[in-house]
Amino acid sequence: MTSGPELQIIEARAEIVGDGMPIHRALPSRLRRMVGPWCFLDHIGPATLDQSGPLHVGPHPHTGLQTVTWLIEGEIFHRDSLGTEQLIRPGQLNVMTSGRAISHSEESPNPASPNMHGVQFWIALPDASRHVEPMFDHYAQLPIVDRGGFHFTVIEGEALGERSPARSFWPTLGLDVVTAGGAALDLPLREDFEYAAFMLTGSAEVGGETLAPNALVYLGSGRNVLALRSEKPSRFMLIGGKPFESPILMWWNFVAREKAEILKSVREWNAGEGGFGEVHGYAYGQRLSAPVPPWIEHEPQ
Ligand code: MN
Repeated sequence: MTSGPELQIIEARAEIVGDGMPIHRALPSRLRRMVGPWCFLDHIGPATLDQSGPLHVGPHPHTGLQTVTWLIEGEIFHRDSLGTEQLIRPGQLNVMTSGRAISHSEESPNPASPNMHGVQFWIALPDASRHVEPMFDHYAQLPIVDRGGFHFTVIEGEALGERSPARSFWPTLGLDVVTAGGAALDLPLREDFEYAAFMLTGSAEVGGETLAPNALVYLGSGRNVLALRSEKPSRFMLIGGKPFESPILMWWNFVAREKAEILKSVREWNAGEGGFGEVHGYAYGQRLSAPVPPWIEHEPQ
């Protein structure tokens, strides 16, 4: 399964989510579906709410994954079908484990800070855990390590002797890395993990490759060290994990293995069935409808 050290540069593509929030999506890409269990990476903004309008993503379902929300600036108010209502702030981690089924909404609070900037990832759940009961975890504090001029926040897994408290179902690493510049470090890695770095702001050299914002570099596996260099102020994410156990099937907000599972989720969500529950209190519109996958359009609905 392991592919050995390699370098592959992927430019995230610009899209809009909700009512007008600009994002760049790096995963999944035609060039790469996953990095360890990480199967989705949206770079939200940076945007000014004056121009983009507030973030409004109406109630929608998920299966088979964890959403990992990490903000740099601004706030998001999260509601879910478990009854959770949580304001997400920079430096705090929110992990929603969909397990078999959950639904949630995301909105800018009112009033909100003028700027919005963050990341939302999805982590695929392995077969042994993808049907667990849904749960939501908020982590107000995470381990921080300063080394070589870099400031690391350990959001998932373990690095530099610190371990994230985040609930995890697969060997995973997630680091937020920020520097004011003049930083250099050879970061120890696990040879059995595959890794990627994604640039948020500024410019840094990762594994010898100079990255600009919205570039993802896939680093493969088989490395025991990674050279990090940054002359200027910059911020990037390093993600990784054990190569995933199997290919996954993703459609809209569902992660599964078989087309039949996706079809069942689409039909149940659109019919208001299937144990996705209900999100209460979202005041900016209706629940979202699941699009029908193109590969079943010829079938009777
Ligand atoms: Mn979602």
